Amino acid sequence: MKEPRTLAGPGPLPDERGVLFLLVRRGIPLALAVISFSAATLHGAARGWWILAGVGALAAAWPSFLRGQAFLRNRTAIMRQDTLWANALLPLARWLGQEEAWILAFCGYNNLRVREAFLAQRAKRALILLPHCIQMSRCKAGILDDLQACYDCGLCPVGDYMNAALLNRWEGRITNRSHKAYREAREYRPDLVVAVSCTDRLLKGLTKMPELPCYVIPLSLAHGMCVDTDFNAPHLFSAMETLVEPRRLPARDIQKLRRDGIA
Ligand code: SF4
Repeated sequence: MKEPRTLAGPGPLPDERGVLFLLVRRGIPLALAVISFSAATLHGAARGWWILAGVGALAAAWPSFLRGQAFLRNRTAIMRQDTLWANALLPLARWLGQEEAWILAFCGYNNLRVREAFLAQRAKRALILLPHCIQMSRCKAGILDDLQACYDCGLCPVGDYMNAALLNRWEGRITNRSHKAYREAREYRPDLVVAVSCTDRLLKGLTKMPELPCYVIPLSLAHGMCVDTDFNAPHLFSAMETLVEPRRLPARDIQKLRRDGIA
């Protein structure tokens, strides 16, 4: 019998692990720019071409320096370029046995910039996206149609999320298909998405929705892909409390939601 979960309260957002991606994303074009401009000074015959290559390399590095509002304004173009880098180097990372570390570095770098942008001015219209596989596989509660069908039995993260979402009036969707999640996000038109998924779906989501700022949180797959997955719920709560304007109801308007029952 699975024990009910105990949940730590939300603390500060954890440090993001984006240094590896930043080193590659900014370091390679800057190194190419240095090589090109050095070659331009040494080889007079093809100087024009070398200078052109150097300028191109600087232009490729430039988006990695944009932060805050400049990042949000140019987000679609920046994310298209960043995801190009992430996807281009994925086969190499896979060959080195570092695929997950590479995707998490990309996600961490993305999160860092989203955090910087929304710490200055918190989001007003945020949307949470969660995968259906966080629901315990033997639970029959119809949470896809109605989140409040969950009995909050404490055996999976859905009850934790439901309580927090109702208390704080967070908007969220639990979906069983990536394309549905993208459609929901585009229809809702949020200024921030906070998404939980496995690492390869996070990369896919950031690639498919470059126009929407997304703070992403990886799933833990203790039982394998798509079965009884879990995630750091306090991390999600911290992200919402830190990056999104509060919408919590006054205490007198809050009804107790926990129901008797088990999954
Ligand atoms: S009833 Fe329990 S197992 Fe089912 S979704 Fe809710 S918390 Fe998870």
